Amino acid sequence: MAVNEQSDPYLRSRLPQQELAAQARKDLGGILAPEERVLYAAVSDMSLQGTYADTWIVLTSLRILASTPQLSQTVQEVPLAEVTRLNVEHFVGNGILSAAAANQTVNLARFSRRFAVDIEKAVAEMEAVLEQEPVAANFVRTHDKAKQIQRKKMEKESNRCPNCGRIMKGSVCPHCLQKGKLIRRVLGYVKPYYPQAIVSTILLIGNGLLSMVQPFLTGLLVDEVLMQNDLGRLRAMVILLALTHLANAGVSGFRTYVVAWLGQRIIRDMRSAVFRHLQYLRMDFFDSVRTGAIMSRITNDTQSLQNFIVQSAQQLLLQVVMVFGVGVILFRYDWRLALMTLAPMPLIVYAARLFSRKMHRVYRGIWIRRALMNSVLADSIPGIQIVKSFAQEPREITKFEHRSDQLFGRHIDAAKYRGMFMPFLTFATSLGTVIIWGYGGYLVISNAGLSVGDLVAFLYYLNQFYNPLRGLSGFSDVIQQASTAAERVFEILDTEPEVKPESSEIVLKDVRGEIEYNDVHFAYDASEPVLQGINVKMKPGEMVGLVGSSGSGKTTMANLIPRLYDVSAGQVTLDGHDLRDIELQSLRNQIGVVLQEPLLFHGSVAENIAYGVPNASRSDIVWAAQAANAHDFIMEFSDKYDTQIGERGLRLSGGQKQRLAIARAILKNPKILILDEATSAVDTETEKLIQEAIERLVKNRTTIAIAHRLSTLKNADRILVMDKGRIVEQGTHEELMAMDGVFARMVKMQSEVSSNMLAS
Ligand code: ADP
Ligand code: MG
Repeated sequence: MAVNEQSDPYLRSRLPQQELAAQARKDLGGILAPEERVLYAAVSDMSLQGTYADTWIVLTSLRILASTPQLSQTVQEVPLAEVTRLNVEHFVGNGILSAAAANQTVNLARFSRRFAVDIEKAVAEMEAVLEQEPVAANFVRTHDKAKQIQRKKMEKESNRCPNCGRIMKGSVCPHCLQKGKLIRRVLGYVKPYYPQAIVSTILLIGNGLLSMVQPFLTGLLVDEVLMQNDLGRLRAMVILLALTHLANAGVSGFRTYVVAWLGQRIIRDMRSAVFRHLQYLRMDFFDSVRTGAIMSRITNDTQSLQNFIVQSAQQLLLQVVMVFGVGVILFRYDWRLALMTLAPMPLIVYAARLFSRKMHRVYRGIWIRRALMNSVLADSIPGIQIVKSFAQEPREITKFEHRSDQLFGRHIDAAKYRGMFMPFLTFATSLGTVIIWGYGGYLVISNAGLSVGDLVAFLYYLNQFYNPLRGLSGFSDVIQQASTAAERVFEILDTEPEVKPESSEIVLKDVRGEIEYNDVHFAYDASEPVLQGINVKMKPGEMVGLVGSSGSGKTTMANLIPRLYDVSAGQVTLDGHDLRDIELQSLRNQIGVVLQEPLLFHGSVAENIAYGVPNASRSDIVWAAQAANAHDFIMEFSDKYDTQIGERGLRLSGGQKQRLAIARAILKNPKILILDEATSAVDTETEKLIQEAIERLVKNRTTIAIAHRLSTLKNADRILVMDKGRIVEQGTHEELMAMDGVFARMVKMQSEVSSNMLAS
């Protein structure tokens, strides 16, 4: 069902408050008393009974009320003097807004999911008004932090197009990204290469003109040479014809090269732009989009855009030139025939529109299936070790083949539509040719001013007219393909990066390393708070241990420091500056991270250690490796520091990888250090070496050490115990043991486990 833009309640709800209030007054004329002032008006899209109908929710100087004028004049209301609070409840498909009074709760209005955020917002605003209103003396505003965060998150997640209010999947509204705009934007990439583009366009027009000469020469050949039996001129004409063909071939060869250069160049620019932009996107973008889908945007989608820019855009131009040029020539030859030529046109246009609509859906489907197939690759290849050790190869194969089959199916759909459309098109145009033979033949025989040569030339031109016309009608197919690709490429480019270049930010220089969490709340998504009111201050150089059951929010808490995510409420400060005011690069330069699963890149050992400091000298690298207890095992490798390691460090043990990661952090020499379960994955032997290395590393740095093995935190200045996003205990190891609380229980459990293991 198409939504009429004007009557769409969502669009209406976006009107300024004043206009809304005026409209409400008009719509509810019979209900509001003359002296009743409208303080606030909002719209929902459902009646209380659950049918879709615009419903007013109005806060007046006397009461809060809701009514659906379209259905009846009944009103749900609570007098202002009695209202104590407003409630919003969200259910699966819809929600209810109610108002509570001392002895009753009145359901005011129902709303669909689409309106959930707007209603939440309206309620917050009405609460603010109520708070100020003397009549509403019983009203208490509930300051519920979790609720506020939920509201904010919902608002973000609902992700509406600022233009049309439709819900978007990404950050780009497919409805508002008009194809014309998209294509213009794609063509914007041609700008730096105007000279080459102009040359290739001139060559193109040259091609067009040369081909238009040929039918004319053929016509002459028939009338002036064949009909006159003139052998002498036959030779000249044939040579002339051959020359035009030769010239055409030459021009088109050169053009092919220029166009290919241009296209590759543009696509190179576009690929780089996408990748560059991608590097600066927020973590939550990568949480929400599959690796396979991102890869396919950078490789396939830019490729299809290239095809569009170089092949199709030029083809389009040539086709337009030919259709108009030849069209004019056709009329010059014989206007009666020319009119007949146009007879099958409506049929062609109609079919082309139908076809293009179908194809858009099919191409979208193809793209989704291809991304799904790629994501099987992106999962199973890096995880091949797990796949093999669980002997799940057949499962992965089945999964891949299933996806591959689906892709096949979609391509077949495309072929089917093309198979129906193309022959139809051919038939419609041949119909034109047949008509011309019939009517043109009649004109020739009846001596009505058309020569045989004219008819022959006309038929040639007719071909030159229909061919590009056929191309043009298939062109919407090409535009569809290109615009779906452009949509996805621009969706990345239009996603806001984490670095906002315009803001005046603090560039950190001398950092002391004092970190403070100030009533920090955080949620990845609206439904579940992960951090709930973290308050902690870490002194410069302090080592703070973080323990707690898995899922309690330790990693999340640490990830806020390099701003992999931003707080939902509250703030984190470094040396007194809110992290969000600090220039990101300078912040991250101060932070070293060692993770449980250290990631190593393709390259040599030395390159991996120097990842954060690419211009480090060899002696610095060796020094860092020594401090990390890594030097000895590195020297045992055949190529020592130049040994190549695979992308996941396949040739190294867990403990070795860990020490390389520590060396990497030591070399970077950060003021702040995050160790996230850095010793969890290694054996006790190696752990001692790593522990030593870490002791050297943490000196003079503010350190957050997340540890599973509690014994590794003996040296921590302070230990925070986390549970369900809250700090439940803190103190030194001894203090916590003396407290005999959560921590003491955890320690006891761990020592039991290890003594059991020893005993068995
Ligand atoms: P810990 O490190 O203490 O084991 P985490 O901070 O990793 O805990 O996770 C805390 C909670 O946040 C868990 O419930 C987890 O499922 C959730 N979570 C962690 N990372 C993400 C993410 N990228 N997106 C959504 N939820 C996440
Ligand atoms: Mg963790």
